[in-house]
Amino acid sequence: MLFVGGIHGDEPEGAYSTSQLPAAFTNAGLAETVTLTILEDANPDGRAAGTRVNANGVDINRNFPASNFDQNNPIYGREPLSQPESRALKDTIDRVDPNLVMVAHAWSGRKFINFDGPAQELADRFSAASGLPVEASASFAPTPGSLGSYVGRDRGIPILTIEVLKGTDQQVVWEQLHTALLQAIAG
Ligand SMILES: [Zn+2]
Repeated sequence: MLFVGGIHGDEPEGAYSTSQLPAAFTNAGLAETVTLTILEDANPDGRAAGTRVNANGVDINRNFPASNFDQNNPIYGREPLSQPESRALKDTIDRVDPNLVMVAHAWSGRKFINFDGPAQELADRFSAASGLPVEASASFAPTPGSLGSYVGRDRGIPILTIEVLKGTDQQVVWEQLHTALLQAIAG
């Protein structure tokens, strides 16, 4: 199981959750059956600068080698894995070989979860435990080269994209999500 605490630098709402998850995971007795890898922040330069993009001005979450990669937009990085952050995250996925990936994001004005790959049932359970409705990928902007496109649709690994309300206090986010996160990790 791989949990990514953030990939857009202006969406730090999941940061506190990454700090709390290890102890909660252990206290829930999950360490005996699950290997949990936490990537605290996939875009540290963006987080430091408070920007969605990395220091090269590239959206990491559009720079993965997905079949729908869009090479025509410079913000997407011109070619897949052109950025050190996307390479590092892909390498982590190759090394960990996860059965489930969850990524924390934030959205202005509403909160929801989205899934790619074989994760419908998981998304429904996460929704019930967290109160975040499930939104189909088609209901928001196209996401060429996204982690969800690459990991979920192309590699067939279940992935949940968790969109909390932008600006929510990080501790409140943890309180909203921790039961759902632990349930998803427990499988
Ligand atoms: Zn985001």
